[in-house]
Amino acid sequence: MEELVEAIRRQCSPQVWQRAVQLAQTATVSGKRTHNAEIEVRVITRGGMASPLVCLAPAELDWSCECESNDDACVHVAASALWVREAMARGEEIPGLHAPMAKIAYRLRREEGLLRLERFFRRGDSLVPLQVRLTQLQRRGAEDELGVSQADITADLALSGIISGKIPRPLMARVLAALAECDDVQLEDVPIRIGEPRPVICAQVDDHADGFQLKAVQDPAISELFENGAVLHGGVLRPIGELELSNRDVEELRKGKLYEFGRVADLVGRVLPTLAERLPVSVRSQILPSATAMLHACCCGPTSTAMRSRCCR
Ligand SMILES: [Zn+2]
Repeated sequence: MEELVEAIRRQCSPQVWQRAVQLAQTATVSGKRTHNAEIEVRVITRGGMASPLVCLAPAELDWSCECESNDDACVHVAASALWVREAMARGEEIPGLHAPMAKIAYRLRREEGLLRLERFFRRGDSLVPLQVRLTQLQRRGAEDELGVSQADITADLALSGIISGKIPRPLMARVLAALAECDDVQLEDVPIRIGEPRPVICAQVDDHADGFQLKAVQDPAISELFENGAVLHGGVLRPIGELELSNRDVEELRKGKLYEFGRVADLVGRVLPTLAERLPVSVRSQILPSATAMLHACCCGPTSTAMRSRCCR
């Protein structure tokens, strides 16, 4: 390897060599030894940029790089040869191969009531911010060595050009659906589960002196609301689900509606089942036991799976 480094240095201009020395100190190199004892690597800068593919052949004192440089030895070749030599001096048998592969890490944070996403390359405990879109890395063919999964690419596409930052509300549902499939997702440095969409409001049935009160309230299981379209619901991060109700219906529900005892059959047989197809319904009434039984009987029937998932929790 020493001879190869020396051969490369002789072909480099002093400027390129100097840049390569600096790059080898700050960057990392990821790659593999090929079957014919050549070394294929990419230089990953501290900013997460992957270089074009470099091939080093220590036995033949030969090298190549896929970049467009016309130099006999480009900065990528020189930097990776220097890095490999140092790695070998440290006793690493094959550079990059035994180091844990860089994976994409997702870090969600609160910022002024909004949900913000940062993406990183994680290798062991070190996080390097992602600075280009994964689809750009993919075009350079660098994603294999970087451990980029299909879920990471889906998330990249869902982010629609955003590398890191506040998640725009129109993209929230797609972004969270993609993140649900990704391995390393944390909210404020704690792993977070991502779930199905959830409306902000639910309908509650409470006892009333004259019967039952039906009222739309903010779902009590929601502990936090992000203005850009997400909720923390039962410790699970979810996109805000669309309500299949008109604004007028929602307004009426928010005001609350009284069903007298005489209308219990209508409430249980028609109103609640219809409502439960559109938003979560929670029956808190203590004196609606037969009605609750009826409600469950109707929604757990073979015909209404939509309701079963919402009311029989
Ligand atoms: Zn190059």
